[in-house]
Amino acid sequence: MPRAFDASAIPRDVLRIAEIFRDHGQRAWIVGGCVRDVLMGRPAKDWDLATTARPEDTMGIFRRVVPTGIQHGTVTVVMAGIGYEVTTLRGEGAYSDGRRPDSVHFVHTIDEDLARRDFTVNAIAYEPLEAALVDPWGGLADLDARVIRAVGDARDRFAEDGLRALRAARFVATLEMTLDPATEAAIPGALATFAKVSAERVRDEWEKACRAPRPSPAFAVMRRAGMLALTAPTTASLDEGAFALALARMDLVRADLALRVGALLRDVRATDAELDAWLRRYRFSNPHRERVLSIQRERAIDLTPAMPGAARRRLLSRLGVETVLALVDVASADARARGLEDAPAAFGAQVRADVEARVPFKTRDLAVTGNDLMSELAIPPGRELGRMLDQLLERVLDEPSENERGRLLAHAAKLRTTTA
Ligand code: ATP
Ligand code: MG
Repeated sequence: MPRAFDASAIPRDVLRIAEIFRDHGQRAWIVGGCVRDVLMGRPAKDWDLATTARPEDTMGIFRRVVPTGIQHGTVTVVMAGIGYEVTTLRGEGAYSDGRRPDSVHFVHTIDEDLARRDFTVNAIAYEPLEAALVDPWGGLADLDARVIRAVGDARDRFAEDGLRALRAARFVATLEMTLDPATEAAIPGALATFAKVSAERVRDEWEKACRAPRPSPAFAVMRRAGMLALTAPTTASLDEGAFALALARMDLVRADLALRVGALLRDVRATDAELDAWLRRYRFSNPHRERVLSIQRERAIDLTPAMPGAARRRLLSRLGVETVLALVDVASADARARGLEDAPAAFGAQVRADVEARVPFKTRDLAVTGNDLMSELAIPPGRELGRMLDQLLERVLDEPSENERGRLLAHAAKLRTTTA
């Protein structure tokens, strides 16, 4: 049975845009990812339109318009605070750098516009006023077969734009499809073009892949086709077993960028400085970079409920709750990936109970403050005060029930006489 396009998914304002174009003697189609997503029964993220109108016409027709990508024929029409990208029908530009077309040329038919798109499932258009699908490349059949296939000759398409090869890998994971063998076979020959893709765009695709229920198929394609060796060589050079384990771990961990990248990179042979440089090069945010580094740095800690409470509290004190829970998530995924008992999850439950019970593990959690020590014990501000608080914290980490004002002041007084 051929798939039907569920027109009720189209936002009212998108229909309005199409009607307004029609009233001005122009045509408009819904295109790309949103058509694909609706056909797959998924919620569409952004609604993009293709139109016969030139950007300057669109700017004149609509009241609220932002010239977001005018050099590519794209303007954003804003309706009720939501932006819709409207792009003039265009053909493939000439790519001399493999990154972006040097020029755009506008075309007259939707078929010509669809011909410049990357994959057949992304090259379907829907005319909302006639309720007609336009599918010159067999995208519907590929949606049914769940295949990512290049529009036209994959070798040419990947040579034009190096990003497409990586998008292919990413869609395999996000759309949960397989990659057409001829399309995959065209990637190795296009690696020189792929190598020109900017680090940010690579990171963007990684990020999208990492949001998939199972990112591993994307990374398996990247490795097989040679893209991983160019972007993450230490990961690409893991042996088969270690790589398979890294992928399994990645799939089992929560869909969070740092956790997934941490799960992938945890066992690579790279020094802290090398990993740090790599994460900076690919423009991971500072919090993501820190988290991935911690996951690798602390990977040897055995997170088990058998860990003594004082050691667990010291770990929380040193790394903070968020980081410890991130380590727990990756270690738990690792245990499950290896088919072992999930000791890290039991450890994580203890950590959550500590947090719930407000177990003290920072100096600011102490039942006394620096001011208390100064006023009660006449300790002058400065180094000694800081050292005293640290010592009180050590005591409380060993024995949380000691975290009581009177006891801590008494202990501090004793410390003072022994050190004085
Ligand atoms: P998603 O938004 O879920 O990442 P998408 O398919 O919508 O997926 P976009 O990057 O939003 O991807 O692009 C919208 C459409 O533009 C695509 O569906 C495709 O038709 C076309 N497209 C995007 N990037 C390329 C490219 N590098 N080469 C050819 N066509 C592309
Ligand atoms: Mg999109």
